[in-house]
Amino acid sequence: MLDLRTINSITGMMALLMAFVLLGMRHYYPRRMPGTLLWALSPIVGGGSSLVFALEGILPAALIAMLGNSLSFASAAMNLFGTAAFYEQSLNRRRWLGFTLGVLGVIACFMLVWPDYRVRVAVFALAMTVYTGTHAWLHWRHGLSFAGRFLAVLLFVRCLVLLARAGSAPLIDAADSTRFAASLIQTLYLSSFSVGGMVTCLGFVLLASERIRAEFERLLNVDLLTGAASRRAIMQALEGEVERWRRTDRVFSILLLDIDYFKRINDNYGHAVGDQVLTQFANSVKSALRSIDTLGRYGGEEFIVLLPENDLRSAAIVAERVRLAVERQIVEAGLPACTTSIGCASIADSGPTLPLLLAQADAALYTAKREGRNAVRLAEPPVHAAALAN
Ligand code: GH3
Ligand code: MG
Ligand code: MG
Repeated sequence: MLDLRTINSITGMMALLMAFVLLGMRHYYPRRMPGTLLWALSPIVGGGSSLVFALEGILPAALIAMLGNSLSFASAAMNLFGTAAFYEQSLNRRRWLGFTLGVLGVIACFMLVWPDYRVRVAVFALAMTVYTGTHAWLHWRHGLSFAGRFLAVLLFVRCLVLLARAGSAPLIDAADSTRFAASLIQTLYLSSFSVGGMVTCLGFVLLASERIRAEFERLLNVDLLTGAASRRAIMQALEGEVERWRRTDRVFSILLLDIDYFKRINDNYGHAVGDQVLTQFANSVKSALRSIDTLGRYGGEEFIVLLPENDLRSAAIVAERVRLAVERQIVEAGLPACTTSIGCASIADSGPTLPLLLAQADAALYTAKREGRNAVRLAEPPVHAAALAN
C-alpha cells in the first residue's frame, strides 16, 4: 500500500508538471491571461510547505508548524487570487492578509503558549474552509463553462472534507499528533487534500485551455478591424438560415452593401484612414439594425447583413434605414464621409440555395451602383429556364 509520504510526493510532482503546462500555455497564448502565473506558482509554494512538514524531527516543531502553515496559506491565497484575476474580479488584499495573519497568530498561540495539536488542526481547517469556499464560489459565479463548474464542485467537496476535519479534530488522540502519523483519519484527510490539490491544478489547465479555444474562435469569427462577423461566421450563419428556411419555411433576407467610391478615399487619404472609415461605417450600419440581425464582412469594403424573419419588403425598409444612417453618420474629425449602395434579396424569392440568394443580392447591388450609388435596390425575381421555354 502507498504510504502518505509517497502519495504526497507523487501528487506534488503531478501538480508541478501541471504548473509547467500552465506556464507554457501562458507563454504561447496570444493575449494576456491574468491569474495563470499565480496558479502556476501555487503548487510550487504548496510543495515547499509539504517539504517543510517532511522535515519533522530535523527542524524545531514550532518552526515547522509556523513555516509549513504559512506556506500552505500562501499557496491557497495564490490559487484564490489567481482565480479572481482570471475572472477579472477584485478581492480585498488587506482583508485577506489580516485574516491570514490573525489565523497564524492563533496557531502560534496554540503552538507556543497552550500547545494543543487538536486546536491547531481545527483552526487551520476552518481557515482553509474560508479560502476554499470563497474560491469555489468565484468559480461557481463566473466560471460558466465545464472547467469552471468542475472546479466549483471540486472545491466545494474540499470544503466539506475540511469541515469534517475541523469537526473531527477533538477526536484526534495524542498519538496522532504528527502529520504523518499512521492513523486512518489522518491518511484519508491528507491524501484527499493532496489529490484534491493536484486535480485543482488540472482544473486550472482545463480552464486556461477553454479560454484559449474561445479566443481562437473569436479570432476566426470576428473581423478584427470592424468588429463585424468574419466572412466565415456570416457564411455559416447564412447556411444555417437556408437550412432553417427549408425545414420551417421561416423566411429571411439579406442586404449586400458596398461602400461608394472607396478607392478614392484610400487614394486621397491613405489606407490607414480608409481602415478607420471602414470601422466607422460598420458602427453606423450596426446602429441601424436590430439585435437579432448580423452584420458580416464579406470581403474588402463589402458587407452582408442577415435579417432573420424579414421578407423583401421589410428588408427594403431596413436597407433604407441603413443607407440613411451611413449618409448621416457623424464622422470623426479628419475622416471623410462615405455613402453605401445596397442590394436586397429574400430567400423566398431568390431560389433555394445560398449561391442563388447571393447572386440576386449582387445583381441588385450592381443596379444600385449603375443607377448612381447611395441607393437601395431590390432583387428581381429570377427568370427560370422553364419559364423561358414556354
Ligand atoms: P464603387 O462605388 O464602384 O464600389 O467604387 P469603389 O472605389 O468603392 O470600388 P471597389 O468597391 O471595387 O473598391 C474596393 C477598394 O477597397 C479596393 C481596395 O483597395 C479597398 N479595400 C479593400 N479592403 C480594404 C481594407 O481592408 N482597408 C482599406 N483601407 N481598403 C480596402
Ligand atoms: Mg467593392
Ligand atoms: Mg465600393
